[in-house]
Amino acid sequence: MDYELAIVGGGPAGFTAGIYATRAGIKAMLFDSGVGGGLMAISPEIENYPGFKSISGMALSDLMREHVEKYMSINFGERVEKLEVSEDEVKITTSNRDYTVGAVIIATGTEHRKLGVNGEEKLQGMGVSYCATCDGPFFKGKKVLVVGGGNSALIEAIALKNMGMDVTLVHRRDVLRAEEVYEKRANEVGVNILYNTHLDEIKGENIVESVVLKNTKDGSIKEMEISGVFVSIGEMPQNQLAKQIGVRLDDNGYIKTDKNMRTNIKRIYAAGDITGGLRQIVTACAEGAIAALASTEVLGKIYPY
Ligand code: NAP
Repeated sequence: MDYELAIVGGGPAGFTAGIYATRAGIKAMLFDSGVGGGLMAISPEIENYPGFKSISGMALSDLMREHVEKYMSINFGERVEKLEVSEDEVKITTSNRDYTVGAVIIATGTEHRKLGVNGEEKLQGMGVSYCATCDGPFFKGKKVLVVGGGNSALIEAIALKNMGMDVTLVHRRDVLRAEEVYEKRANEVGVNILYNTHLDEIKGENIVESVVLKNTKDGSIKEMEISGVFVSIGEMPQNQLAKQIGVRLDDNGYIKTDKNMRTNIKRIYAAGDITGGLRQIVTACAEGAIAALASTEVLGKIYPY
Protein backbone atom coordinates (compact mmCIF):
# COMPACT_ATOMS: atom_id res chain seq x y z
CA MET A 1 0.00 0.00 0.00
CA ASP A 2 1.40 3.43 -0.96
CA TYR A 3 -0.46 5.39 1.69
CA GLU A 4 -2.98 4.57 4.37
CA LEU A 5 -5.08 7.62 3.55
CA ALA A 6 -5.49 9.74 0.42
CA ILE A 7 -7.01 13.17 0.81
CA VAL A 8 -8.38 14.57 -2.42
CA GLY A 9 -8.53 18.37 -2.43
CA GLY A 10 -6.39 20.93 -0.66
CA GLY A 11 -8.89 23.41 0.71
CA PRO A 12 -9.55 23.96 4.43
CA ALA A 13 -11.16 20.50 4.80
CA GLY A 14 -8.29 18.66 3.11
CA PHE A 15 -5.64 20.68 4.93
CA THR A 16 -7.20 19.99 8.31
CA ALA A 17 -7.66 16.31 7.47
CA GLY A 18 -3.94 16.16 6.69
CA ILE A 19 -2.98 17.71 10.03
CA TYR A 20 -5.27 15.44 12.05
CA ALA A 21 -4.42 12.27 10.12
CA THR A 22 -0.66 12.59 10.37
CA ARG A 23 -0.80 13.62 14.02
CA ALA A 24 -2.85 10.45 14.64
CA GLY A 25 -0.09 8.37 13.04
CA ILE A 26 -1.75 7.81 9.67
CA LYS A 27 0.51 7.79 6.62
CA ALA A 28 -1.39 10.19 4.38
CA MET A 29 -1.00 11.95 1.06
CA LEU A 30 -2.89 15.04 -0.03
CA PHE A 31 -3.57 15.52 -3.74
CA ASP A 32 -4.55 18.88 -5.19
CA SER A 33 -4.89 19.48 -8.90
CA GLY A 34 -3.85 23.11 -8.48
CA VAL A 35 -1.87 25.07 -5.94
CA GLY A 36 -4.15 24.42 -2.97
CA GLY A 37 -6.35 26.65 -0.86
CA GLY A 38 -9.52 26.04 -2.88
CA LEU A 39 -12.11 28.81 -2.94
CA MET A 40 -10.77 30.03 0.42
CA ALA A 41 -7.57 31.20 -1.28
CA ILE A 42 -9.41 33.52 -3.64
CA SER A 43 -11.72 35.01 -1.04
CA PRO A 44 -10.85 38.71 -0.68
CA GLU A 45 -11.48 38.90 3.04
CA ILE A 46 -12.45 36.43 5.78
CA GLU A 47 -13.90 37.83 8.97
CA ASN A 48 -15.54 34.85 10.64
CA TYR A 49 -12.77 32.31 11.09
CA PRO A 50 -12.12 32.38 14.84
CA GLY A 51 -8.81 33.86 15.84
CA PHE A 52 -8.61 36.16 12.81
CA LYS A 53 -10.75 39.29 12.96
CA SER A 54 -9.91 39.91 9.32
CA ILE A 55 -7.55 38.04 7.02
CA SER A 56 -7.30 37.59 3.26
CA GLY A 57 -8.16 34.14 1.93
CA MET A 58 -4.70 33.82 0.44
CA ALA A 59 -2.99 34.61 3.75
CA LEU A 60 -5.15 32.11 5.67
CA SER A 61 -4.56 29.51 2.99
CA ASP A 62 -0.77 30.02 3.18
CA LEU A 63 -0.87 29.64 6.96
CA MET A 64 -2.89 26.42 6.71
CA ARG A 65 -0.63 24.98 4.00
CA GLU A 66 2.50 25.73 6.04
CA HIS A 67 0.82 24.07 9.01
CA VAL A 68 0.08 20.89 7.00
CA GLU A 69 3.59 20.83 5.55
CA LYS A 70 4.98 20.70 9.06
CA TYR A 71 3.63 17.12 9.12
CA MET A 72 3.39 15.85 5.56
CA SER A 73 4.04 16.70 1.94
CA ILE A 74 1.36 17.65 -0.56
CA ASN A 75 1.20 16.56 -4.20
CA PHE A 76 0.21 19.84 -5.83
CA GLY A 77 -0.65 19.75 -9.53
CA GLU A 78 -1.69 16.10 -9.36
CA ARG A 79 -5.29 15.51 -10.32
CA VAL A 80 -7.10 12.44 -9.01
CA GLU A 81 -8.97 11.06 -12.01
CA LYS A 82 -10.38 7.75 -10.89
CA LEU A 83 -11.16 5.73 -7.76
CA GLU A 84 -11.70 1.97 -7.66
CA VAL A 85 -12.91 0.59 -4.36
CA SER A 86 -12.53 -3.02 -3.30
CA GLU A 87 -13.05 -4.76 0.04
CA ASP A 88 -9.47 -4.23 1.26
CA GLU A 89 -8.21 -1.12 -0.50
CA VAL A 90 -8.86 1.77 -2.86
CA LYS A 91 -6.95 2.17 -6.10
CA ILE A 92 -6.40 5.76 -7.16
CA THR A 93 -5.48 6.86 -10.65
CA THR A 94 -4.04 10.35 -10.84
CA SER A 95 -2.67 12.46 -13.67
CA ASN A 96 0.77 11.01 -12.74
CA ARG A 97 0.36 7.36 -11.72
CA ASP A 98 -1.66 4.77 -9.76
CA TYR A 99 -1.63 4.44 -5.97
CA THR A 100 -3.14 1.96 -3.55
CA VAL A 101 -4.51 3.33 -0.29
CA GLY A 102 -6.65 2.17 2.61
CA ALA A 103 -9.11 5.05 2.70
CA VAL A 104 -9.99 8.23 0.83
CA ILE A 105 -11.39 11.55 1.96
CA ILE A 106 -13.12 13.41 -0.85
CA ALA A 107 -12.67 17.11 -0.10
CA THR A 108 -13.03 18.44 -3.63
CA GLY A 109 -15.24 21.40 -2.74
CA THR A 110 -17.20 23.37 -5.25
CA GLU A 111 -16.66 25.35 -8.42
CA HIS A 112 -18.19 28.64 -9.52
CA ARG A 113 -21.64 28.45 -11.06
CA LYS A 114 -21.91 29.99 -14.53
CA LEU A 115 -24.69 32.35 -15.63
CA GLY A 116 -25.09 30.67 -19.00
CA VAL A 117 -25.88 33.90 -20.86
CA ASN A 118 -24.64 34.96 -24.29
CA GLY A 119 -21.13 36.36 -24.20
CA GLU A 120 -20.16 34.83 -20.85
CA GLU A 121 -18.06 31.98 -22.19
CA LYS A 122 -16.61 33.89 -25.13
CA LEU A 123 -15.45 36.80 -22.94
CA GLN A 124 -14.22 34.78 -19.94
CA GLY A 125 -10.79 36.17 -19.11
CA MET A 126 -11.53 39.15 -21.37
CA GLY A 127 -13.57 41.06 -18.80
CA VAL A 128 -15.71 38.22 -17.46
CA SER A 129 -14.31 36.95 -14.17
CA TYR A 130 -15.28 34.70 -11.27
CA CYS A 131 -12.66 36.04 -8.84
CA ALA A 132 -12.37 39.62 -7.61
CA THR A 133 -9.13 38.96 -5.76
CA CYS A 134 -7.45 37.54 -8.86
CA ASP A 135 -8.71 39.91 -11.54
CA GLY A 136 -9.92 43.02 -9.67
CA PRO A 137 -6.63 44.94 -9.92
CA PHE A 138 -6.90 44.96 -13.77
CA PHE A 139 -10.03 47.08 -13.54
CA LYS A 140 -8.82 49.87 -11.25
CA GLY A 141 -10.59 53.13 -12.08
CA LYS A 142 -13.11 51.37 -14.33
CA LYS A 143 -16.80 50.53 -14.12
CA VAL A 144 -17.61 46.93 -13.23
CA LEU A 145 -20.66 44.82 -12.53
CA VAL A 146 -21.03 42.13 -9.90
CA VAL A 147 -23.82 39.59 -10.39
CA GLY A 148 -25.36 37.84 -7.37
CA GLY A 149 -26.99 38.56 -4.04
CA GLY A 150 -25.23 36.18 -1.65
CA ASN A 151 -22.38 36.72 0.80
CA SER A 152 -19.74 36.12 -1.87
CA ALA A 153 -21.18 38.67 -4.29
CA LEU A 154 -21.39 41.33 -1.60
CA ILE A 155 -17.87 40.63 -0.34
CA GLU A 156 -16.53 40.78 -3.88
CA ALA A 157 -18.39 44.03 -4.60
CA ILE A 158 -17.00 45.64 -1.44
CA ALA A 159 -13.48 44.42 -2.28
CA LEU A 160 -13.70 45.79 -5.84
CA LYS A 161 -14.96 49.11 -4.54
CA ASN A 162 -12.02 49.23 -2.14
CA MET A 163 -9.67 48.52 -5.06
CA GLY A 164 -10.90 51.70 -6.71
CA MET A 165 -13.69 50.71 -9.07
CA ASP A 166 -17.15 52.06 -9.79
CA VAL A 167 -19.17 49.00 -8.74
CA THR A 168 -22.77 48.08 -9.53
CA LEU A 169 -24.23 44.89 -8.10
CA VAL A 170 -27.20 43.31 -9.85
CA HIS A 171 -29.45 40.90 -8.02
CA ARG A 172 -32.41 39.08 -9.52
CA ARG A 173 -34.72 39.54 -6.54
CA ASP A 174 -35.78 42.47 -4.33
CA VAL A 175 -34.03 41.07 -1.21
CA LEU A 176 -30.41 40.07 -0.83
CA ARG A 177 -29.49 36.60 0.35
CA ALA A 178 -26.32 37.96 1.97
CA GLU A 179 -25.99 38.64 5.69
CA GLU A 180 -27.08 42.11 6.77
CA VAL A 181 -23.57 43.09 7.82
CA TYR A 182 -22.40 42.88 4.18
CA GLU A 183 -25.40 44.75 2.82
CA LYS A 184 -24.75 47.55 5.32
CA ARG A 185 -21.06 47.74 4.43
CA ALA A 186 -21.78 47.69 0.68
CA ASN A 187 -24.05 50.68 1.15
CA GLU A 188 -21.46 52.45 3.28
CA VAL A 189 -18.68 52.10 0.71
CA GLY A 190 -20.96 53.15 -2.14
CA VAL A 191 -21.75 49.97 -4.07
CA ASN A 192 -24.68 50.73 -6.33
CA ILE A 193 -27.24 47.92 -6.00
CA LEU A 194 -29.82 47.15 -8.71
CA TYR A 195 -32.54 44.83 -7.45
CA ASN A 196 -34.97 42.83 -9.59
CA THR A 197 -32.43 42.84 -12.35
CA HIS A 198 -31.31 40.03 -14.57
CA LEU A 199 -28.16 40.10 -16.67
CA ASP A 200 -29.37 38.96 -20.10
CA GLU A 201 -26.25 39.31 -22.24
CA ILE A 202 -22.61 40.34 -22.10
CA LYS A 203 -21.50 42.20 -25.22
CA GLY A 204 -18.08 42.89 -26.71
CA GLU A 205 -15.99 41.96 -29.72
CA ASN A 206 -12.78 40.89 -27.95
CA ILE A 207 -13.29 42.40 -24.49
CA VAL A 208 -16.36 43.21 -22.44
CA GLU A 209 -17.91 46.46 -23.61
CA SER A 210 -21.47 46.43 -22.27
CA VAL A 211 -24.19 44.36 -20.66
CA VAL A 212 -27.89 44.02 -21.32
CA LEU A 213 -29.95 44.21 -18.14
CA LYS A 214 -33.60 43.27 -17.78
CA ASN A 215 -35.87 44.51 -15.02
CA THR A 216 -37.71 41.43 -13.80
CA LYS A 217 -40.68 43.48 -12.52
CA ASP A 218 -41.60 45.54 -15.58
CA GLY A 219 -39.63 43.69 -18.27
CA SER A 220 -37.76 46.83 -19.35
CA ILE A 221 -34.37 46.36 -20.95
CA LYS A 222 -31.36 48.65 -20.78
CA GLU A 223 -27.80 48.45 -22.01
CA MET A 224 -25.00 49.58 -19.70
CA GLU A 225 -21.41 50.26 -20.74
CA ILE A 226 -19.10 48.28 -18.51
CA SER A 227 -15.47 47.07 -18.47
CA GLY A 228 -15.79 44.00 -16.28
CA VAL A 229 -18.40 41.49 -15.13
CA PHE A 230 -17.76 39.54 -11.93
CA VAL A 231 -20.10 36.58 -11.70
CA SER A 232 -20.71 35.44 -8.12
CA ILE A 233 -23.89 33.40 -8.15
CA GLY A 234 -22.97 30.45 -6.00
CA GLU A 235 -21.23 27.18 -6.45
CA MET A 236 -21.63 23.68 -7.81
CA PRO A 237 -20.25 20.59 -6.07
CA GLN A 238 -17.23 18.98 -7.75
CA ASN A 239 -18.72 15.53 -7.40
CA GLN A 240 -17.35 13.68 -10.46
CA LEU A 241 -15.19 11.26 -8.44
CA ALA A 242 -18.02 10.55 -6.04
CA LYS A 243 -20.47 9.91 -8.87
CA GLN A 244 -18.07 7.49 -10.60
CA ILE A 245 -18.11 5.09 -7.67
CA GLY A 246 -21.75 5.47 -6.67
CA VAL A 247 -21.38 7.68 -3.60
CA ARG A 248 -24.85 8.80 -2.55
CA LEU A 249 -25.58 12.47 -3.33
CA ASP A 250 -28.39 14.78 -2.28
CA ASP A 251 -30.74 16.49 -4.77
CA ASN A 252 -28.24 19.32 -5.30
CA GLY A 253 -25.33 16.98 -5.97
CA TYR A 254 -23.63 17.29 -2.57
CA ILE A 255 -22.26 14.14 -0.91
CA LYS A 256 -24.41 12.65 1.84
CA THR A 257 -22.46 11.60 4.94
CA ASP A 258 -23.23 10.46 8.45
CA LYS A 259 -21.97 12.46 11.42
CA ASN A 260 -18.56 10.78 11.17
CA MET A 261 -18.25 11.91 7.55
CA ARG A 262 -18.70 8.36 6.23
CA THR A 263 -20.29 8.05 2.80
CA ASN A 264 -22.41 5.05 1.84
CA ILE A 265 -19.24 3.36 0.54
CA LYS A 266 -16.81 1.73 2.96
CA ARG A 267 -13.35 3.40 2.94
CA ILE A 268 -14.73 6.59 1.33
CA TYR A 269 -15.25 9.69 3.51
CA ALA A 270 -16.14 13.25 2.51
CA ALA A 271 -15.51 16.63 4.11
CA GLY A 272 -15.94 20.34 3.44
CA ASP A 273 -18.09 22.18 0.92
CA ILE A 274 -18.65 18.99 -1.12
CA THR A 275 -20.97 17.84 1.68
CA GLY A 276 -23.17 20.96 1.29
CA GLY A 277 -24.85 22.55 4.32
CA LEU A 278 -23.35 25.66 5.88
CA ARG A 279 -20.22 25.66 3.67
CA GLN A 280 -18.01 27.75 5.91
CA ILE A 281 -14.26 27.46 6.42
CA VAL A 282 -14.80 26.57 10.05
CA THR A 283 -17.23 23.75 9.19
CA ALA A 284 -14.91 22.47 6.45
CA CYS A 285 -12.04 22.29 8.94
CA ALA A 286 -14.20 20.50 11.48
CA GLU A 287 -15.38 17.95 8.93
CA GLY A 288 -11.81 17.36 7.75
CA ALA A 289 -10.72 16.57 11.31
CA ILE A 290 -13.66 14.22 11.87
CA ALA A 291 -13.15 12.40 8.56
CA ALA A 292 -9.43 11.91 9.19
CA LEU A 293 -9.95 10.36 12.61
CA ALA A 294 -12.97 8.33 11.49
CA SER A 295 -10.84 6.74 8.75
CA THR A 296 -8.81 4.97 11.43
CA GLU A 297 -11.73 2.51 11.66
CA VAL A 298 -10.86 0.98 8.26
CA LEU A 299 -7.10 1.27 8.72
CA GLY A 300 -6.84 -1.14 11.61
CA LYS A 301 -6.07 1.68 14.03
CA ILE A 302 -8.17 2.66 16.97
CA TYR A 303 -8.50 6.32 17.71
CA PRO A 304 -9.98 7.08 21.12
CA TYR A 305 -12.71 9.63 20.45
P1 NAP B 1 -25.22 31.68 -2.43
O1 NAP B 1 -25.35 32.04 -1.01
O2 NAP B 1 -25.80 30.40 -2.93
O3 NAP B 1 -25.84 32.90 -3.28
C1 NAP B 1 -25.91 32.85 -4.66
C2 NAP B 1 -26.56 34.12 -5.15
O4 NAP B 1 -26.57 34.11 -6.58
C3 NAP B 1 -28.01 34.26 -4.70
O5 NAP B 1 -28.28 35.58 -4.36
C4 NAP B 1 -28.80 33.81 -5.93
O6 NAP B 1 -30.01 34.51 -6.06
C5 NAP B 1 -27.89 34.26 -7.05
N1 NAP B 1 -28.06 33.44 -8.24
C6 NAP B 1 -27.99 32.07 -8.34
N2 NAP B 1 -28.16 31.67 -9.62
C7 NAP B 1 -28.34 32.82 -10.33
C8 NAP B 1 -28.56 33.07 -11.71
N3 NAP B 1 -28.62 32.09 -12.62
N4 NAP B 1 -28.71 34.35 -12.10
C9 NAP B 1 -28.65 35.35 -11.19
N5 NAP B 1 -28.44 35.19 -9.88
C10 NAP B 1 -28.28 33.92 -9.46
O7 NAP B 1 -23.69 31.63 -2.93
P2 NAP B 1 -22.37 32.35 -2.36
O8 NAP B 1 -22.61 33.77 -2.05
O9 NAP B 1 -21.32 31.99 -3.34
O10 NAP B 1 -22.08 31.57 -1.03
C11 NAP B 1 -21.92 30.15 -1.04
C12 NAP B 1 -21.90 29.64 0.39
O11 NAP B 1 -20.73 30.13 1.05
C13 NAP B 1 -23.09 30.14 1.21
O12 NAP B 1 -23.45 29.13 2.10
C14 NAP B 1 -22.55 31.34 1.92
O13 NAP B 1 -23.21 31.65 3.12
C15 NAP B 1 -21.11 30.91 2.17
N6 NAP B 1 -20.25 32.08 2.28
C16 NAP B 1 -20.13 32.61 3.53
C17 NAP B 1 -19.34 33.73 3.70
C18 NAP B 1 -19.26 34.32 5.06
O14 NAP B 1 -19.91 33.85 5.95
N7 NAP B 1 -18.51 35.34 5.30
C19 NAP B 1 -18.69 34.32 2.64
C20 NAP B 1 -18.85 33.76 1.37
C21 NAP B 1 -19.65 32.64 1.20
P3 NAP B 1 -31.26 34.20 -5.08
O15 NAP B 1 -30.90 34.87 -3.79
O16 NAP B 1 -32.38 34.83 -5.79
O17 NAP B 1 -31.35 32.71 -4.98
